[in-house]
Amino acid sequence: MKIPFNKPYLTGKEAHYMYQAVFSGHISGNGLFTKKCHKFFEEQYGFRKALLTTSCTDALEMAALLANIKPDDEVIVPSYTFVSTALAFVRQGGKIVFVDSREDHPGIDEKAIEEVITPKTRAIVPVHYAGVACDMEIIMNLSEKYNLIIIEDAAHGIDSYYKGKPLGSFGSFGSLSFHETKNIISGEGGMLLINNESFIERAEIIWEKGTNRAAFFKGEVDKYSWVDIGSSFLPSDIIAAFLYAQLENIENIQRKRLWNWNKYYEGLKALENRGLIRLPYLPEYASNNGHMFYLICNTAGDRNRLIKYLKEQDISVVFHYQSLHKSPYYINFHDGRTLKWADFYSDNLVRLPMYYEISEEQIDFIVEKINKFFLLNH
Ligand SMILES: *Cc1c(COP(=O)(O)O)cnc(C)c1O
Repeated sequence: MKIPFNKPYLTGKEAHYMYQAVFSGHISGNGLFTKKCHKFFEEQYGFRKALLTTSCTDALEMAALLANIKPDDEVIVPSYTFVSTALAFVRQGGKIVFVDSREDHPGIDEKAIEEVITPKTRAIVPVHYAGVACDMEIIMNLSEKYNLIIIEDAAHGIDSYYKGKPLGSFGSFGSLSFHETKNIISGEGGMLLINNESFIERAEIIWEKGTNRAAFFKGEVDKYSWVDIGSSFLPSDIIAAFLYAQLENIENIQRKRLWNWNKYYEGLKALENRGLIRLPYLPEYASNNGHMFYLICNTAGDRNRLIKYLKEQDISVVFHYQSLHKSPYYINFHDGRTLKWADFYSDNLVRLPMYYEISEEQIDFIVEKINKFFLLNH
């Protein structure tokens, strides 16, 4: 039987809570389950304010609006990331300045950020690739030194930490994704985390179509009006109901994913020791949330042959991002700098099946085939 790359996990309570939401009489946004989800993140992780959105892309777009990114403002983004990390700022007219990946990790090279900062730089958007923290001390120091807004793309980073502090809690803003490929899911879904008190009131307005509806329902104003720009960023409470069932099981989900991750790591370590592949690197300041298991081949040829070989064994493995500085949309806006490591990971990285329900036997089978591939070919 084919081993898929991903399989969305259901805890069993999703449909029940969705049924409750439907029959509660409040199925639009900001209902009972939305409030439960907000409370979960604010209490469990200490985020100052959480707002559920229809996607992580939406959360990043909200952050771009709140940060007031205007045409010609420069925004620093890693090239090795998903489109949305850059797209949200491009929609505001921002100019993306790409930074390379680290040699030892696909995440942004923190030490290469300072050299691209100019008087036009307004924000840095670090991405915690694979749920592994960026070096936030370096990034927060740059934020202070140059007065830059930090927006953490923590789409992979739920329940993961930098020196014990949750990802998404460092910048003025953080964003999470609940897309079905992430650890905790709602089909499509996301969250904006607001850690800077001064942005909260405006965030609630932008979230609800530029109206002061939130303040009206809290009794803070006596009529509800159009007061600012915004959009309809809030999902239906039915989505929140699905998400809440997942959040109740987060410990169990994370535990199983980490177990899977460690099983892969142990099974492939010998190949790394022989120099045939590289396994994920975890800096001592970063935790692991088992979001992704990837390996890095020495050459693009190896990577492509490995993918083909595993597909023939009915194992779905996939590569990951293609550098955004070379994307058809942005290549002509890019300033031309070579980003060697971003290109390297585009060509050499492969992700293995990783989901809650993958069995020990399936992981053993995948590990055995990968070992066989490299021992046959080298
Ligand atoms: C998944 C992902 C997003 C987008 O998340 P959506 O919820 O699908 O909008 C953004 N950034 C990164 C790094 C992602 O992996």
